[in-house]
Amino acid sequence: MRFAEHTIRRRRLLQWSAAAAVAPGLAAPACAAESSGASPVAEGQPFPRGVSLPSSPPPAPDADSVGIAIVGLGGYALAQIMPAFASARGCHIAALVSGNEEKAKRVAAAYGLEEDSIYNYENFDDIAADDRVDAVYIILPSGLHADWTEKAFAAGKHVLCEKPMALSAGECERMIAASTKAGRKLMIGYRCHFEPCNLRAMALMRDSAIGDLRLIRTAHQYRTGMATPAENWRLNRALAGGGPLEDYGLYGLQAALYLTGEMPSSVSAYTLQPENDARFREIFAHVSTQLQFPSGAVAQLATSYDSFGVNALTARGASGALVMEPATSYRGNTMLLQSYGSSETLTPGESSVQFAEQLSHFADAVREDVVIKTPGEMGLRDVRLIEAIYQSAATGRKLALNPDGTVAS
Ligand code: NAD
Repeated sequence: MRFAEHTIRRRRLLQWSAAAAVAPGLAAPACAAESSGASPVAEGQPFPRGVSLPSSPPPAPDADSVGIAIVGLGGYALAQIMPAFASARGCHIAALVSGNEEKAKRVAAAYGLEEDSIYNYENFDDIAADDRVDAVYIILPSGLHADWTEKAFAAGKHVLCEKPMALSAGECERMIAASTKAGRKLMIGYRCHFEPCNLRAMALMRDSAIGDLRLIRTAHQYRTGMATPAENWRLNRALAGGGPLEDYGLYGLQAALYLTGEMPSSVSAYTLQPENDARFREIFAHVSTQLQFPSGAVAQLATSYDSFGVNALTARGASGALVMEPATSYRGNTMLLQSYGSSETLTPGESSVQFAEQLSHFADAVREDVVIKTPGEMGLRDVRLIEAIYQSAATGRKLALNPDGTVAS
């Protein structure tokens, strides 16, 4: 983008942010990208391309298994989450919620579910009376997470909700309040907390395996296809917030927090929203963030929807470095631990167990009241930081942060 264009764009974003912030009754903006203004609604979508269904249904669940309704039958639900139930402990798929009846029937048949365990977005509230369903797993576009989590709590069910928890801190607070009011669990689908390499990385940092941590660099980037916000929810502000940060860069933000074990004390950030590119009419193409931590460690986080793909993390300390690439992927994450004069490849386990481990943990929380490792409060904390990142980028200022992730006034 040329400098003049960028200056005009930035001024426009600042005006938009300021207008949204002062308008009475308007929710705080989730990000500084512009919105088409439409309220998001749940609606059925076709069967995702390239996804196959199991050839035989699972065995009958144990009597005390937690029955989970899958809300939203998209790519992540069908390709990653639903197959993982086969190796999860203490839970099973009990119902489906979809706006596409034909797709839902096809999926139900593959998973051995009766047709009366299929709900749609209109009759979802009836799930309250369905004793087969203890909990729901919300795997809808992110702008729908808050409303559907609230509906699930109103129906008396526990909730596992995909990341990002929601698109504004206000939405996250509503979700936590609904969980408390219903007396039901709320967990966020932060799968890396159940992935062997990331768990090992957390342990290495706790043990000071690379000395005092100085620098974390993360890159979560890929190039999205030529689509418009109407064609692809990930490009639509009402459904996706600012775009790559909420979707993919969140893994880098999370890693910075769980590797340092600290909350940042300040943030400075830069966003890019190119002109004349239909993909970025409503969302940002790139977000670059620098976080400073009280210990003196710094995290530099890059995320993009318009760059050659990368999923990588480096943690550099006074006496060594940890290099992971891919770092936060579904499968095949790698770890290289370096110190002066040595370099060791670590193989703590196959990454793909993370999906089943996450489901098992949720089941343990519901059945045995185990403390949730990735609760709603963690999702809220991260969304607050995302808001601070956008505020820093929109104002062009480095912002001091409170320990809860809000911007210090
Ligand atoms: P997707 O587009 O493949 O599926 C979304 C599904 O939601 C659709 O198939 C449809 O069934 C339903 N839906 C309801 N209303 C919709 C609407 N208005 N527009 C589009 N779809 C609508 O998306 P996905 O990749 O499965 O992502 C769903 C959620 O899962 C998102 O919150 C995303 O952030 C999260 N996700 C998490 C991971 C992870 O690794 N934890 C990976 C991918 C996606």
